[in-house]
Amino acid sequence: MTVSREIRLKSRPSGLPTADNFELARVDLPDPSPGQVQVKNTWMTVDPYMRGRMNDVRSYTPPFQLGQALQGGAVGEVTASNDPSLKTGDLVQSFFGWREAFNAPAAAVQKLDTHGLPPQAFLGFAGMPGLTAYVGLLRIAELKAGDVVFVSGAAGAVGSVACQIAKLKGHTVIGSAGGSQKAGFLREIGVDHAIDYKAERDLTAALMRAAPEGIDVYFENVGGAHMEAALAAAKTFGRFALCGMISEYNNTDLGQGVRGLVQVVGKSLTLRGFIVSNHTDMQDAFVKDLAGWVAAGKIQSRETVKEGIENAPAAFLGLFKGENLGKMLVRLN
Ligand code: NDP
Repeated sequence: MTVSREIRLKSRPSGLPTADNFELARVDLPDPSPGQVQVKNTWMTVDPYMRGRMNDVRSYTPPFQLGQALQGGAVGEVTASNDPSLKTGDLVQSFFGWREAFNAPAAAVQKLDTHGLPPQAFLGFAGMPGLTAYVGLLRIAELKAGDVVFVSGAAGAVGSVACQIAKLKGHTVIGSAGGSQKAGFLREIGVDHAIDYKAERDLTAALMRAAPEGIDVYFENVGGAHMEAALAAAKTFGRFALCGMISEYNNTDLGQGVRGLVQVVGKSLTLRGFIVSNHTDMQDAFVKDLAGWVAAGKIQSRETVKEGIENAPAAFLGLFKGENLGKMLVRLN
């Protein structure tokens, strides 16, 4: 028997989740059955979309079940194999995060070839968040030469990659993030105008100063005042890639609404939401472009790391308090 620990959803949050919504449970894992592998996770990710799965509502992913381990991306090492496709020591990626170890059919995990990158990069800039930035800019916003691009949540996992891809493609980029340290990071990654939105009394005025002639593209991660500022600053025929609206995920009602939405009509704006899992056909192009950018030393990444499965809920809660610079991760020992 192998002893593992996992985080379960104890109760459904109303509004901002708290530590009391989670429980740490101990599990005894038998040896893997035929066709199965046993994996010890080394890294797991926490992501904002997981908040939606804590509600008992139909969405693009089913809700987490009470009393059961949460799910999410993880990388780990095969510690026992009862299937010829994988052997002890293989590095694998899976959707069995939020637990230290697990047994699963070999077909439910993917062997990971890191191409020299650290394994946890595949939970961040080289994984789902990176692909999200790529899809949002290139397919959803249909980035064109000369576009002025505004990115909110710019110092986070998705936003920091979006800023860098837009810079690599030669655009003027305005990034917004909370706090002077994050604004400093945005300048380090080449953002032309870094807005510390927490230091601005009037975000719309700050965006107008950064883009006096307006923005062509808005990569939306935050919602609320950021959306209102982007609507005000948008040029005619502006394109908005609606990736996320984290400021609304803990609302218990429909919230305040967006002021100035009427500008979508007058400015002939295109607002298009997307879910990255509907665009996996772009994965190969993303991997190829990313490999070139990484080889040329043109992509920077940051991680904020919490240690141990017992701190996974705190890592998740930290996303809603802006505690992460770059990708929020949990290292499992
Ligand atoms: P981040 O790494 O950006 O972490 C979340 C950040 O959001 C925090 O660090 C904080 O940054 C900011 N934030 C939190 N609460 C608020 C608030 N109330 N108001 C303003 N900012 C807030 O997360 P990800 O990069 O993983 O995700 C970014 C966005 O992309 C999210 O909305 C997420 O849901 C979405 N997403 C969408 C996908 C899709 O398929 N459409 C796929 C992946 C992510 P700060 O300190 O700067 O405020």
